[in-house]
Amino acid sequence: MSATPHEAPRGFLAQVGRAALGLVLDTALPPLCAACRQPVGSGRGLCAPCWSKVSFIAPPYCERLGIPFAYDPGPGVLSMEAIADPPSYGRARAAVRFDEVARDLVHALKYGDRLDLATTMGGWMARAGRELVAEADALVPVPLHWRRLWARRFNQAAALAEAISRETGVPVCHALKRVKATPQQVGLTRSERAANVQGAFRVPDRDATVRGRRLLLVDDVLTSGATLDTCTRVLLRAGARSVDVLVFARVVGLARSPI
Ligand SMILES: [Zn+2]
Repeated sequence: MSATPHEAPRGFLAQVGRAALGLVLDTALPPLCAACRQPVGSGRGLCAPCWSKVSFIAPPYCERLGIPFAYDPGPGVLSMEAIADPPSYGRARAAVRFDEVARDLVHALKYGDRLDLATTMGGWMARAGRELVAEADALVPVPLHWRRLWARRFNQAAALAEAISRETGVPVCHALKRVKATPQQVGLTRSERAANVQGAFRVPDRDATVRGRRLLLVDDVLTSGATLDTCTRVLLRAGARSVDVLVFARVVGLARSPI
């Protein structure tokens, strides 16, 4: 749980920025449900009917990948995916299944300027990934390329990591840089996705941010896992002691909805 010196001013400025943004959002936006756009009373981001449709992932699940099991096979049993095609990251956890409500939440956060949702979604992630967060030295958000960041103005993975950090006290470390602007992963096959993100990430300052540390990669959605797998390999090559993965939503089963 160590913060390198150069993380401190960034964290402070981010806090000041968030406080200012929070004031603006509180006064400017009527609270609407992120999924159905009906007014909501509370600050949770979803109305009661949409809230009841959220499909939280809970045990029993694969201890390695967090993929939910239909029945409890007993402790330590791994999923087919974890055995047949193990990823480079250690463990993965997701707060919810990627379904219609989850997609609405991700889209509202990503494209709809609903930064307020990051707190709710990050809170769910902190709970779903409790064990992983407890062992992590730092949270590493999957970065956007600066051109996409400029167009979208913020990185949803970083917003989620900041929210988890506020809840758990584990610092955010922007260890990864995206050096290649990759096309969107939507509509690509598994192997195309893997090729798409090949060579897209770098660790600019491995000694200060990565070496010897237990890292928890944070992203909004896990589909094929190609991006998270590539990020993990880059972090391990840079000397990370271990890399786990925590996402808001993961695709479960055969459903491959566009993100
Ligand atoms: Zn709703």
